[in-house]
Amino acid sequence: MTKTPQEIVKSAREAFDSGKTIPLEFREKQLKSLLRMYEENEEEMLEALKQDLNKSRMEATLTEISILKMDIKEQITNLKEWAKPEKPPKPVANIMDEALIYKDPYGVVLVISAWNYPINLAFLPVTGAIAAGNCVIIKPSEISPASAEFVRKTLPKYLDNECYQVMCGGVPETSQLLKEKFDYIFFTGSTHIGKIVYAAANENLTPVTLELGGKSPVFIDDDTNIDVATRRILWGKCMNAGQTCIAPDYILCSKKTQDKFVETAKKILKEWYGDNPQKSDDLCRIVSDQHFKRVSKYLKDNGKIATGGKCDADDKFVEPTILIDVKPNDPVMQDEIFGPILPILTVHDSKEAIDFIRQREKPLAMYIFSENRPTIDKFLRNTSSGGVCVNDTLMHLGLSTLPFGGVGSSGMGHYHGKYTFDTFVHRKSILVKNLNMIGEKILSSRYPPYSQSKLKRLQMALEKTQFEIKLKYVPYMLIFGLGLITSFLARYFVEKQKFRS
Ligand code: NAD
Repeated sequence: MTKTPQEIVKSAREAFDSGKTIPLEFREKQLKSLLRMYEENEEEMLEALKQDLNKSRMEATLTEISILKMDIKEQITNLKEWAKPEKPPKPVANIMDEALIYKDPYGVVLVISAWNYPINLAFLPVTGAIAAGNCVIIKPSEISPASAEFVRKTLPKYLDNECYQVMCGGVPETSQLLKEKFDYIFFTGSTHIGKIVYAAANENLTPVTLELGGKSPVFIDDDTNIDVATRRILWGKCMNAGQTCIAPDYILCSKKTQDKFVETAKKILKEWYGDNPQKSDDLCRIVSDQHFKRVSKYLKDNGKIATGGKCDADDKFVEPTILIDVKPNDPVMQDEIFGPILPILTVHDSKEAIDFIRQREKPLAMYIFSENRPTIDKFLRNTSSGGVCVNDTLMHLGLSTLPFGGVGSSGMGHYHGKYTFDTFVHRKSILVKNLNMIGEKILSSRYPPYSQSKLKRLQMALEKTQFEIKLKYVPYMLIFGLGLITSFLARYFVEKQKFRS
């Protein structure tokens, strides 16, 4: 019998309150079991991704399964280190005290995921939430049904059934779920729905991470190696048929560079996908009829098609397409394209490109192709985006030491690697005071009866607290001091001996 959202949340909360997820051994066991799930079900995952998006084995392995395996291994390896309390530096006034930062799990976490990388986006945040000691409810996207069914049916075979639960469904089910009180909500999806989720979270002051989308621009400088740049831009655009949150959305470049880009792109697309790209095994399909209608509409009344332009509704196929002579107010420039269509807008120089980007919502990613460091720096200093990749596309997402997330309308919060673990813990500050007389004396002037001299003493003590003494360096300083004294004394006695003789 399927549980209602209330029942799911209630049982997860009871599991959390029982303290089951707190021991690191429990978390490690769950993570290892999840890793086993990836290893034992690789074919099932590849099949689900084929059904939902016609993902090739290579793309599915590279962008979904391998990332998950690498991430979970990183979480398992570092779990003890990341979870242990931190000891921040202490000021002089607290020399006798203990200062600690505990990493408390939030409690019951809701993870709502999107359909474009349906396996990766469901499990990547969940891994960090488990490592951090939370109970998790996962809501996969209904738009990728085969992947959602894989998550629903497989996860309970590997993870604790009370602590980690899956709820499938569309808008009505998610709306019901959002009426419940969660301790953290991690949402991946569109900016529009992100606002709905944020409003629901606000009812209970629930902290959120919103991993949203947006129009990620590309600037190509005239000095760029156009062959390499074109390959890297097209690779980012054609991956998953453009249905990637950080896909290059549109290009800004000079007319001269546009012409070179289009000519090079025609050759590269033919080399990659042949004369009939619809027959290529390496191109994904648009996820649903509704999204096909939305994307294929851009092929009309948006500038001129420079290459591509074919589509087939029965197959949900849209050919990789480059549009030129596009105007800023054309429909294709209003919302995230999320399909294999790449408009080019010409600009005179980098300043015009920067102004164009700054006049729009902050994107999730920005791509700069240039060999000129001052030009690159100008973009980095004068624009705001979730992340930037210089001279490539998408690749910054693969580096787990870089936080991944948006800014402004492209989202809030970030994750990947240690940042995922940190997302799902509350950093609890703890000061353990000492009751001995030295500790008491240091700040005893705070007690009444108040007086001007006590105030001065207190201010002096507190002012001193501005100097943070890193106590861990004290032993080194002592050894250094001792060394100096010893060498001084040795020299003194040698000199004395010489004098006598
Ligand atoms: P979406 O916003 O339509 O749906 C996301 C999730 O929200 C789904 O699980 C869906 O069931 C749920 N949902 C939909 N309508 C809802 C409603 N009214 N109330 C409550 N929940 C609702 O997004 P999508 O179409 O699945 O994904 C595409 C978008 O996600 C793009 O904008 C893309 O850029 C973005 N995205 C962002 C990232 C990232 O990491 N920043 C990753 C992937 C996708």
